[in-house]
Amino acid sequence: MNKTTESCLIIGGEIAAIRAAHDLLAMGVPVTLINYSDELCKESKMFQRGITDFVYTKDIITPYLKDLESNSKFTLINNVQKVKVDRKESPFEIEIAYNDASRNFMTNTVIFALGFKPFNIEKLEEYGYGVLEGVITIFDLEKNIQNNDLTIYEKIKRLIFVLCAGSRITRGNPDCSSYCCSYSINQALIIKKMYPHIDVVIMYMDIRTVANQEFLYNEARKSGIIFVRGRPSAIEQSNTKLITLFEDTLAEKQDLLPADLIVLAVGGVPYPGSDDLATNFGLQLNHNNFIKIIEKPVVTSTPGVFACGSACDGIKNIQQNISEGGAAAMAVVKFLKRI
Ligand SMILES: Cc1cc2nc3c(=O)[nH]c(=O)nc-3n(C[C@H](O)[C@H](O)[C@H](O)COP(=O)(O)OP(=O)(O)OC[C@H]3O[C@@H](n4cnc5c(N)ncnc54)[C@H](O)[C@@H]3O)c2cc1C
Repeated sequence: MNKTTESCLIIGGEIAAIRAAHDLLAMGVPVTLINYSDELCKESKMFQRGITDFVYTKDIITPYLKDLESNSKFTLINNVQKVKVDRKESPFEIEIAYNDASRNFMTNTVIFALGFKPFNIEKLEEYGYGVLEGVITIFDLEKNIQNNDLTIYEKIKRLIFVLCAGSRITRGNPDCSSYCCSYSINQALIIKKMYPHIDVVIMYMDIRTVANQEFLYNEARKSGIIFVRGRPSAIEQSNTKLITLFEDTLAEKQDLLPADLIVLAVGGVPYPGSDDLATNFGLQLNHNNFIKIIEKPVVTSTPGVFACGSACDGIKNIQQNISEGGAAAMAVVKFLKRI
């Protein structure tokens, strides 16, 4: 068995994970990063996830990825199928299965950066996703923009973004997804700019464009995007239109709004299996099955194991995930100095 002394294992392959890896390597700590997917930052490369001022994620991750690729202390293992913990305290003994191979190794520290998966909105029948043509998600819309597959937008007259779809509800994710307001308003602005003839409506419970993302909300209002406060009780098909039935929570009355396209701002849930993996390391989970943080921002209930990004206490925006990746790297270095 390959015994490593001052090392860190990072589980996860997106923005929080690569920031943590980047900072650890800069401080001389060898890093092994294991990832479910077949490529590092596959999702971030695919989606143009703006942060605050339309800076694309790919522009943020490219320098980090370049640094990792050229660092001899960095080991990347993609396509991980199984992670087993044979010794549950530092130094941890880990066994992983990937690409029909397996590998055992020891590491003093571990960073969980598992993130989240979009909630399966088909489970909430009132939204009609997967049943009604013309009901899509923000991820479908993102793919349309990326693939320049925009013919339907040329023909439509009204589009409604429904925020908090599957979030802040016990049948979905009881918490706020925190990035959906900014992300959806960003998309609404893109559509409004490309197709000014479209009547773009945002149906919301509360607008949470926190901190410096407030400018998106202001831009949207200036651009003529209409904000309606309410939550749909049903989306139905009537001839060629989709009818959203909702309670207008400002006017305190039931109302309906016809549209040609409905875009659901779907929140997220922990990656399938991440709860089992975390509990194998002795980690406590929060009320929503994300990893519980014992001491903010990144300390878990197992000494030597840290968590960052959306795996850690719940879904966050890119800025927070990047900061937490850096904080987790610092926490690892502090821990390694003690042992
Ligand atoms: C489509 C989309 C658009 C978004 N847009 C924005 C935006 O514009 N602005 C914003 O601020 N935020 C946005 N977010 C929210 C959030 O900031 C991002 O999702 C961010 O990428 C989360 O980073 P993360 O590193 O925590 O985890 P994730 O990006 O969720 O990545 C998790 C990683 O962990 C890996 N993994 C999971 N389980 C295991 C395991 N057991 N073993 C090994 N690897 C595992 C996965 O393969 C994946 O690589 C968006 C989210 C989505 C889904």
